[in-house]
Order: sequence, then structure tokens, then C-alpha cells
Amino acid sequence: MNIKALVEFLLGAVILTGCGEPKTAPENEKTETAPVSVQTVQNEALTPKKHTVDPTKPVMALTFDDGPNTTVTPRVLDALEKYDAVGTFFLIGDNINDESAEQVRRAYGMGCEIASHSLTHSYMDKMSADDIIAEMSETSKRIKDIIGVEPVFFRPPYIAVSTTMYENIDMPFICGFGVNDWVSSTTKEQRIDGVMDAAQDGAIILLHDFGNNYSTAMALDTIIPGLQEQGYQLVTVSELFEAKGKDPHSDEFRNKVISLVQ
Ligand SMILES: [Zn+2]
Repeated sequence: MNIKALVEFLLGAVILTGCGEPKTAPENEKTETAPVSVQTVQNEALTPKKHTVDPTKPVMALTFDDGPNTTVTPRVLDALEKYDAVGTFFLIGDNINDESAEQVRRAYGMGCEIASHSLTHSYMDKMSADDIIAEMSETSKRIKDIIGVEPVFFRPPYIAVSTTMYENIDMPFICGFGVNDWVSSTTKEQRIDGVMDAAQDGAIILLHDFGNNYSTAMALDTIIPGLQEQGYQLVTVSELFEAKGKDPHSDEFRNKVISLVQ
């Protein structure tokens, strides 16, 4: 097997095992990097809408990376709201500005979970401890400034990890089953089929709400009711762990990217 074939094989293996994050940056990724002047809520926590989860019934977590923005993020929220579902948003700190922060507030108010996807969406496995800490603390601060609480889960950009990251990031690293929705040529139908094929109790699905990823937002209009018809409750990542009786900080999940089921 030559090197190219080996790399393709390994990438394929990563996707098959459910850690589907692109090894190249999604298109239009870092489009919103304007200086941040987010209005703070002075640490006054918003009150999220309550929803109940029945742990005896199947659960799945839809997760969305690379927001927030004012284009696709609101469409994802519209779809979740329409079907009384929630999801988890792994935010890029640098994408937070006055306008996109409104979408974060809306998501949190709906009962969605807000998590961290770093400040700059760089390959953090190449970073020093100081740089890693700066990425994480600034993103957590920006999120807390909006919703009043800090994120408790982290998804590494490109699922690229290092020992230094594990040593310096005190949040569980969350993976998920990807459906190539970061590739613009993946059709809406392929995104729907990918998620429906991956459906199982305890699954975390890794999708993207980056700025021009409308196909994923449109696919949700089929995915969400389709999963609900099959009896799945769509819950946040925190609720997924709770429903499964798992502690994400336990030794079982230390120093690894977590997929609850494969
Ligand atoms: Zn990402």
C-alpha cells in the first residue's frame, strides 16, 4: 500500500468509527473574525426552556460545529424548534460577534447546549500548552459573557489531539458520527441517509452549521421528524450522558475522543 492509499484508508477508518471531522478546513470556515464586542449579561444566567428526557427510551444527540452565524445557525434552530428538539452547538470563539451572539442566546434559551470548538479552529495538536489554554479560556469567557455559564464539553478542531491538549483541557473531548456534511458536493439526500443509517440509541451525530451549509439545515426537516418517528428523543450531549448513566469525566473517557456508541 503506498502512502496515499494508506492515508485514504486511515481517513476512511476514522470516518467509519464515527469521528467524522474533515482533515481540511470546511469551506467558508473562518469568515466571521471581526473584533468582538459582545454585550455581556453580567454573569446573569439565562433560563433555558425545560424539556424532559425519558432515560428508558432511546436518545440521540445532534451536534453542530463551526457556528455561530446569522445564516445557517438560525435555520438549524428553526428546524429544532419546529419539532421541539434540541441540539448541541460547538462554537468557534472567533465567530462570536454581536449578531451571532443573538443566535447563541436563542439556542440556549431553547434548551440547547453550548459547547466549545476552540477560539480559532486551528490544529491544536501542534500548539504549546500556553496557546491551548488561551484558546480554551477565551472561548469559555466569550460563551459565558453571552449565556452566563461556561461550556462543559469540547470538540477538537479536525479531531486532532495531543497529549498536551489532554493535559491542559479540563473538558471531555466529544467526537460524533459524521456524514461528510462539510463537503459541499454531499447532497441533502446523502446527509439525510447518512444520519438515518447511523441512528442508534446513544449516538452522537456530528453536523456543521458553518456559514453556507444550507443543505444540512434543509436536511434537518427530514432528519428530525424521521428520528422522532423511530422513537428517538433528541437531546443535548449532557442529557445523553445522563440518560445513559455515564460520567464524561470518569476514567472510561479519559484521554480519548468520546463516542458513546460506534
Ligand atoms: Zn470544525
